[in-house]
Amino acid sequence: MATGVTGKDPAPGRIIRVIEIPARHGAALEVARGQILRVIDVEGQQVGDLVCFNRDDLGERYSPQNTVLFNRTIYPKVGAALVSDRGRPMMRLIADTVGVHDLICGSCSDEYYKNRLGHHGPHRSCRGNLAEAMAPWGVPLREIPFSFNVFMRWPVEPDGSVVPMTAPSGPGDYVDLQAEMDLVVAMSACPSDITPTNAHNPTPMRFVLSESGQKGRR
Ligand SMILES: [Zn+2]
Repeated sequence: MATGVTGKDPAPGRIIRVIEIPARHGAALEVARGQILRVIDVEGQQVGDLVCFNRDDLGERYSPQNTVLFNRTIYPKVGAALVSDRGRPMMRLIADTVGVHDLICGSCSDEYYKNRLGHHGPHRSCRGNLAEAMAPWGVPLREIPFSFNVFMRWPVEPDGSVVPMTAPSGPGDYVDLQAEMDLVVAMSACPSDITPTNAHNPTPMRFVLSESGQKGRR
């Protein structure tokens, strides 16, 4: 909370746009090729479920499976690409103050709260937040891919089990993602207060979009 609008460090270029994402909600924006989207954990211990779409052909979407396959890891580090369902790099991780993200667990949903966590009654979800955020672009829930989970720590044990843990990020921690094509990017500040993911206390996140003057790698 003591950190500035760009988190722990200055923006990597001229700031174009800042979007505050309220706790338990989502947001989306257009990001042009070469621009850098900073995703900031404002208060700490908060996960963001991020997806992206080719702005010029919304049928091309982020693919968690291709991202694992192309990077050959389930723990992406600086230099890793977010890869589309057509096998093309969409964004590249160019800075990261945390180094812990999840590619395999997808996003929480109405069904997850009801059928797996036994929560009855309404509960906001990342799937619902992403669909709300993408509505202005006409992308319905069924066309939202599963997400790149920024700061999510659910490690895989040697026996294959997946262990729910709290995000290790602190206030002002961030990742910088540089667009490798023109995109629409959406993210949900995960509303889960049942699992330890967000320390049982969902908090806000922030997008800071900047222009570095350098185009993304092809
Ligand atoms: Zn979630």
